Amino acid sequence: MTAVRLPHISARCTGCGRCVGACPPHVLWLETVRWRKTAVLHDAAGCTGCSACAVVCPVHAIRMRPVAEEARADAQPRPGP
Ligand code: SF4
Ligand code: SF4
Repeated sequence: MTAVRLPHISARCTGCGRCVGACPPHVLWLETVRWRKTAVLHDAAGCTGCSACAVVCPVHAIRMRPVAEEARADAQPRPGP
């Protein structure tokens, strides 16, 4: 299934892992990025866009964004360290 919306995980993420446990197709992982544990969508093609991850996040770090918007954001250069 191709998702219409994908989760965008903000820097507010505390790395608690609730979204990882709530994701039915298991496409979210916890990773350490710049010495901080954070949730990462590792398989965008496998995401169904169900929003379960966003619903369980206790700090509202996940916003569902339209796929086109998410692709544009990915194309932006990332800030350096
Ligand atoms: S929207 Fe659903 S399928 Fe996609 S990452 Fe979140 S919980 Fe998993
Ligand atoms: S539930 Fe929210 S705070 Fe916890 S790992 Fe997922 S995005 Fe981060």
